[in-house]
Amino acid sequence: VIDARDVTLRFGSGTAAVDVLRGVSLKVEQDERLAILGPSGSGKSSLMAVLSGLERATSGKVLIAGADFSALDEDGLARARRGRIGIVLQAFHLIPTMTAVENVAIPLELAGISDPETKARAELERVGLGHRIDHYPTELSGGEQQRVGLARAIAARPALIFADEPTGNLDEATGNSVVELLFDRLTETGATLILITHDAALAARCDRIIEMKDGHIIRDQRHFAELAVAE
Ligand code: ATP
Ligand code: MG
Repeated sequence: VIDARDVTLRFGSGTAAVDVLRGVSLKVEQDERLAILGPSGSGKSSLMAVLSGLERATSGKVLIAGADFSALDEDGLARARRGRIGIVLQAFHLIPTMTAVENVAIPLELAGISDPETKARAELERVGLGHRIDHYPTELSGGEQQRVGLARAIAARPALIFADEPTGNLDEATGNSVVELLFDRLTETGATLILITHDAALAARCDRIIEMKDGHIIRDQRHFAELAVAE
């Protein structure tokens, strides 16, 4: 479902150029749960941005569910992403002027799904926020905002879910509940997960772990949890 070949990403030019991704190749199958580890600044979020179509690769090829993201223009990219890709970020990125239910309805509307408000409400009930649907983001706690963010990311049942440190701003119990909701949904829909995390226990729940350093993938391991136990 993901086939990235020799992807580079460069910000700026000339002497100010920063090479953030330096030739990354990665294949991910449908159903796979992939965790991305690596130190701060190693390019994890940048790789996710390129794979999810938020950022365009400087060179290389990015095939996502058969669409060549590296060849599409802005409109084509927006269309290819719609309904297929869900993204959960560390800072929740909810739209402050919209209520919880309006935020969650956005991807449903974009995907052309009928009755988005009703479906958004049901999604919020599932994440335990049935009593907060008409609240604005500023009226919600961090954990509640992250659950709205999760509901928004999964509402349209995307085949691909990207999560960038989804529990980074949450206390342990709240983070765990967000993770449970996410994995429940994966099991239900067979979506692919690409997860950036610093949490080893969370990474161990994935079936594959890659590690990044200085814009490269320096390790790619399946069933890491079993290997770690065997060592
Ligand atoms: P963290 O764990 O801290 O989130 P990361 O692995 O996600 O780190 P990235 O956000 O991918 O790291 O950033 C990789 C490098 O790219 C960093 O050195 C960062 O300063 C640089 N970078 C990111 N965005 C830009 C930009 N718009 N312009 C210039 N440099 C950038
Ligand atoms: Mg990051």
